[in-house]
Amino acid sequence: MRLHLLEGKTIAVMGVANRRSIAWAVAESVRRLGGKLIFTYRSDRAGRELERLCQDAFGDEMPLIVQCDVQDEASIEEAFAKIARETDCIDGLVHSVAHARVEDLQGEFVDTPREGFDLALETSAYSLVAAARAVRPLMKRGGSIVTMSYLGAERAVPNYNVMGVAKAALEASVRYLARDLGPSAIRVNAISAGPIRTLAAKGVRGFNDVLHAVEERAPLKRNVTAEEVGDVTAFLLSDLARGVTGEVIHVDGGYHIVGI
Ligand code: NAD
Repeated sequence: MRLHLLEGKTIAVMGVANRRSIAWAVAESVRRLGGKLIFTYRSDRAGRELERLCQDAFGDEMPLIVQCDVQDEASIEEAFAKIARETDCIDGLVHSVAHARVEDLQGEFVDTPREGFDLALETSAYSLVAAARAVRPLMKRGGSIVTMSYLGAERAVPNYNVMGVAKAALEASVRYLARDLGPSAIRVNAISAGPIRTLAAKGVRGFNDVLHAVEERAPLKRNVTAEEVGDVTAFLLSDLARGVTGEVIHVDGGYHIVGI
């Protein structure tokens, strides 16, 4: 049975670096469910990779692909102005963006220097606020914003350090944005995803230990896939989730519920 849950909806996806990116799995779920896609990327390299992925996936019907560096306010403004010229309405925004310095994702959190802290918080948490502000005028029919978080927001996970603090700020931002944008029928939610081997995950020291811990202790006795995260994101983007906002949904095989 083919579902058309996102038919007629335009979804902007931020954060595809390559085919392993969670954002790419989200895009595939959106496409399967009939949604129209727009992409933003940061580096020229990611742009070329995205171009290739889209050519394979979409052939002649290439989606709009726009550069957007979330550390640069002008770049965010330009990106959404360009999107606004091409489409009059956006129904969904997927924020799948985070960054911290590799040296701040190991050792003790107490050693995090100010510049590493600022960079992680700005890129990984403030970027959601800036993106929500930029997309708001385009969500004329209401909309759904979804961001990606991790258990390190709630627990002190070894080596995740400053990124855990950034994810805590991200999850709090979800609640404040949900409150602000709710009257405009814009919902804002996060997914707390289990560990998945991606480019960003490579930067976290001891990542393999985290994967093993989930396999051993999660109720489902396995790690989740990017596709599973993509499908729950698609659900949150769809009208099936029309009553859900300000929420953090765990897609982690149930790992967060276990004691020891
Ligand atoms: P990824 O490396 O494929 O994606 C991270 C993306 O962030 C990249 O596309 C990168 O270009 C983008 N980015 C970084 N700095 C940026 C900037 N200044 N401007 C614009 N884009 C920028 O890795 P991923 O694992 O797919 O990460 C996507 C999201 O999922 C992140 O928020 C990450 O923290 C979160 N997450 C990942 C995992 C995991 O285990 N992989 C688990 C939970 C949450």
